[in-house]
Amino acid sequence: MQRNLDNRSVNPGPKQALPSDADLRRLLRFSAADGRIWLADQRMLLMHAASLASLRSELIHGIGHEPARRLLMRVGYAAGQRDAALARQVRPDADVFAAFAVGPQLHMLEGAVQVTPLRFEYDAQAPHYLGVYRWNHSWEVETHLRDFGPQREPVCWMLLGYASGYTSRYFGRQVFYKEQTCQACGGGHCTVEGRLAEEWPDAEDLARDYAPDSMLSHIGELRSKVDVLRHELQTRDESGPLVGRSAAFRGAVELLHKAAATQVTVLLTGETGVGKERFARALHAMSARAAQPFVAVNCAALPGELIESELFGAERGAYTGAQSTRIGRFERADGGTLLLDELGDLPLPAQAKLLRVLQTGEIERLGATGTRRVDVRVVAATHVDLEAAVAAGRFRRDLLYRLNVYPIRIPPLRERVDDIEPLAEMLLQRFGARHDKRLAGFSDRALDAMRQHGWPGNVRELENLIERGVILATDGGAIEARDLFPSLPQGGSMTLSERGDLRQPAAQGTTALYDEMKRLDLSLDQLEEALMDEAVSRHGGNLAASARALGLTRAQLSYRLSRPRASC
Ligand SMILES: [Zn+2]
Repeated sequence: MQRNLDNRSVNPGPKQALPSDADLRRLLRFSAADGRIWLADQRMLLMHAASLASLRSELIHGIGHEPARRLLMRVGYAAGQRDAALARQVRPDADVFAAFAVGPQLHMLEGAVQVTPLRFEYDAQAPHYLGVYRWNHSWEVETHLRDFGPQREPVCWMLLGYASGYTSRYFGRQVFYKEQTCQACGGGHCTVEGRLAEEWPDAEDLARDYAPDSMLSHIGELRSKVDVLRHELQTRDESGPLVGRSAAFRGAVELLHKAAATQVTVLLTGETGVGKERFARALHAMSARAAQPFVAVNCAALPGELIESELFGAERGAYTGAQSTRIGRFERADGGTLLLDELGDLPLPAQAKLLRVLQTGEIERLGATGTRRVDVRVVAATHVDLEAAVAAGRFRRDLLYRLNVYPIRIPPLRERVDDIEPLAEMLLQRFGARHDKRLAGFSDRALDAMRQHGWPGNVRELENLIERGVILATDGGAIEARDLFPSLPQGGSMTLSERGDLRQPAAQGTTALYDEMKRLDLSLDQLEEALMDEAVSRHGGNLAASARALGLTRAQLSYRLSRPRASC
């Protein structure tokens, strides 16, 4: 039942005695059979003061004294508000003080503090409120003295928040309490005084303690610091050490070391995902150019009509849309290293210009009359067979000769089985840190499954699998085979189909694809669309490259993409 307090007032009175709390005790029910405690219809917890004390102490150490104080005041405030909602429904016939006293009495019943009212004045018309209370046995005083020793400032933060939250909600007006004396600063008890916000001269300062954003802004600051650190960590990862002990890999690294001391143009070959960019960055970092820029261009990701201006720059007005002078990647890399990735996708006219730059060390911006000298170490990378591209007329033979002075073949992961375990361990460290998980390595079956896998996507595929494994694995446990390969059959590498025939491991990729298709409830048409979308997105919108990846001609891919969508 709601009481209407606005029409009531009591005269200022001296110390008031608290009524019996028998009615409040009846609201408390222990329902141990289903593991719940109730205060009227609110679920409560009976927890150890010492455990809340350790949380309090960790907060103070973790986020600092002031943020911890304000956070705990708000926690107390929320509890006080909840008890006020309850208080409005009990003692319907009592006078204002006895009805209000539900709060202080619940606070005692909940074990927070002993409350003795010293002064209680309330006038709804004026309006006016003054409440002065003595607190004994504050749990916060006890724990704070134990953890931090005697204090100069009051420490009953949750209690004060409770009093403010309770009284504000109870009267429907903002009330703040101050701790005038706290036992943690000496003396035998605490004294608190509550007034309406408009009756405090420093109400704005008091209100700030309850503003919800102070904690959030602190978290926001921490989060942005974490982002910066994470980014630094990631950048370090990308140019990090080349991990591997297999003979094939060590051979490639040895060649890279020798090239680093010279200015020779390096051609990195290898399948997609073997880590060509990591090799190029390592070469740059080992060379005398390390302090200068490292610039990477993915030739397959740039639209053919823009590639020349991207590489060599363009003067204002050189072509439609060139509204300002554009500095090319060669100029950006001046003094440093330029990685031309997926070089096999470079259009023929750009190949001619690149050859000229390699021969003369000079570039010419589109639309410019003169040339500029640049000092750039070029590293080219490709996953396509450039000899075959020459034979097919898609790549200039003279450019290939120029680039092929110092080729380094990076072996695919399946030829580096001995490297899988150290690589996986290194990636586990990296992704464990990134996702804040502590994991106890890999299970034997997971390591075995990784050794058996064919790795068509090479190190990049391994990275993706380990990151997913880190996310899926139980914190504190080891990464299991099923965390890495969800559709791996249990048991050996052979599996019985539903019809009873034994399948070879080679069929597992198909099985997994089929299972995934069923799980996502995709039709064959939708699957085809999803694969085409993925290819186009991986190749940065370059249809020719996407089509090659899918074993189609560009025209075939365009046609299929232009059909009405099955997924719509
Ligand atoms: Zn105190």
